[in-house]
Amino acid sequence: MGERTIENISVSVRIRPLNQRELTSGGEKIWEKVGESEIKEKAGARSFAYDRVYSENTETGEIFEYQGVQVIEKCIAGFNGCIFCYGQTGSGKTHTMHGIRKTNPGLVPLSIDHIFSMIQRSSGKEFLIRCAYIEIYNESINDLLNPNLLNLQLAEDKRSGIKIVGVTEEVCTSSHQVNSLLAMGEKHRITASTNFNQRSSRSHSIFRVIVESKNTSGKSDVAIAALNLIDLAGSESADVHGPSASSARSKEMKYINRSLLTLGTVIMRLSDKKNSAPIPYRDSKLTRLLQPALEGDSKVSIVCNISSCNDAYDETLSTLKFAQRAKKI
Ligand code: ADP
Ligand code: MG
Repeated sequence: MGERTIENISVSVRIRPLNQRELTSGGEKIWEKVGESEIKEKAGARSFAYDRVYSENTETGEIFEYQGVQVIEKCIAGFNGCIFCYGQTGSGKTHTMHGIRKTNPGLVPLSIDHIFSMIQRSSGKEFLIRCAYIEIYNESINDLLNPNLLNLQLAEDKRSGIKIVGVTEEVCTSSHQVNSLLAMGEKHRITASTNFNQRSSRSHSIFRVIVESKNTSGKSDVAIAALNLIDLAGSESADVHGPSASSARSKEMKYINRSLLTLGTVIMRLSDKKNSAPIPYRDSKLTRLLQPALEGDSKVSIVCNISSCNDAYDETLSTLKFAQRAKKI
């Protein structure tokens, strides 16, 4: 554990199409995909390369094939994993993570389906799947499966590394059951907030699938792996909301900035084999909670979402730079 392995982190950028608001206000598309893995500013000199760049035409299913399947397969084999979406509010994080269940499913439902189909096809192994759904808002961990459980604490755990004390974990035996849990969590999240869209853009949501497995024959140990599916808080800087931002708003921004900055530093340090500086997992709840799923043999996939519109230029550039730091080659 604690070993740094760059091969285990994949970083991509997904460009979303211009939306109605951007089109009617005369917005222009200024970023374009070049080849498999590059993005280039149309009129400018800037270009960036990642493991993959997805264009406006890419479906989430393709992203899952490229960056999701490998994480799921490792979890089934007993290793922790994370799939993140990073980007400013409105860039397509929730579209990528959750999508629209029937017509355009996101990485979460695709992952769940893949887990259960792998389990069904596997022989000689027994699996137990448990799910938890939490949000981290202002450094407080809240249980989305039980709205009475607020500000849960983290503790060291011998088996899993870190545990969330008292969090609800439901045993699930089918995709259908997991989907109902997701829907219930979303409902609690909506009713807990006066403005759902605002709240959802200022908190990180983490859907956790704990995969326990053991061989049916013989006395082998139980393997436990956690898959973390994370819809991060919006990465926009405070000043896009103007100087009149309320004090509640600036408190939120302070916490978001700190946890996203810490996440960026942690991932950058993990990607940089030459740097042996300590990794600041403890600087935020998000990174502390995810530590066992980021280090060692864990598999991490990051999708950075951007709008290709000129009016999002500064935020897009900041996201592209985050993605670049995450994949320091
Ligand atoms: P975020 O979660 O980052 O705030 P959303 O996922 O809610 O952003 O996306 C904002 C809007 O843009 C939604 O209406 C969503 O359906 C739409 N959208 C995002 N990405 C895409 C895409 N790749 N293709 C089509 N529509 C998209
Ligand atoms: Mg969202």
